[in-house]
Amino acid sequence: MEILVTNDDGIFAPGLWRLVKELRTIARVIVATPDREQSGSGTAVTLRQPLRVQKVRPLVPEVESYSVEGTPADSVILALGKLVSSKIDLVVSGINSGANLGDDVLISGTVGAALQGYLRGVPTLAVSIGNIDSDYLDNAARLATILAKKISETTLTGNIFLNVNLPSLPLAEIKGIQVTRLAGQTHLDTVDEGHDGRKAYYWLVREKLDRDAPLETDINAVEQGHISITPLHTELLRRSSSLPLESLCEKAFRELKP
Ligand code: MN
Repeated sequence: MEILVTNDDGIFAPGLWRLVKELRTIARVIVATPDREQSGSGTAVTLRQPLRVQKVRPLVPEVESYSVEGTPADSVILALGKLVSSKIDLVVSGINSGANLGDDVLISGTVGAALQGYLRGVPTLAVSIGNIDSDYLDNAARLATILAKKISETTLTGNIFLNVNLPSLPLAEIKGIQVTRLAGQTHLDTVDEGHDGRKAYYWLVREKLDRDAPLETDINAVEQGHISITPLHTELLRRSSSLPLESLCEKAFRELKP
C-alpha cells in the first residue's frame, strides 16, 4: 500500500511526523505538504503564480518528502499529478492541531487538502485533534493507521472521504467511535480593529459558539468523549432551500430576457 500524507500545518508540524511514523509500519509513505502553516486556507489553489517544490530530508527516515510553496490543496494536486509516479492508495491529511468540526470543514486546509484526493478518486482521511501537545497525538496516529488498514482491506474504492476528529482525552476515557454528521456553525467571526500609528488594521476573531450541539453531530460526539467520523462528500452544501427556487429562476430569466 502507498499512502500520501499531507497537512495544512506545514512540513515541520509534529502531528505530521507522528502520523508518518505510525503509517510507515503498514505502508510506503510519501509526504507532500505546504512549506509553512496554512491553517484556514480551505480548498484554495494557486493559479496565478508558479509553484516551487523542495525535496526535503524527512524527520522519519527513508520517507520521500516534499515541501511545496503553496496551499495544502496545491500539495496534493502536485503530488498526485506530478511528483509521485506510483499509484497512491490512500491520502491522509493531518494530524491537524485543532479540531475540524461542523461548518469549519469549509475553511479547513486539512480537509481542503484531503478533498483533492477524493476528487481524484483516491480514498481519503482528514484527521484532527483538539490538543496536539500531548500523548493524545498517539491515539490519533494509531487510529489513522488502523483506519488506513481497514479501508485498504475493503473492496470499496474511491468515494471515501472521512473527517476524523478525536477528543483531547486519554485513551481510557474515550468512549467509542461515532459516525456523525456536521454540526453546522461552530464559531462566530467578528472583526477587531486597531491602529498601528499609520493605518487601521483588522483582525478576524473567532469565538467559539457556546451552545449544545444536536445529537448525532460531530461536535456533540467529541464533547461527549467520542471519536467522531463524518463521511463527507462534495454535495455537503446541499441543504433544502426555503426559497421556491424553480419559480424564482423562471421569473428572473423572464425579467432578464423579456
Ligand atoms: Mn491546521
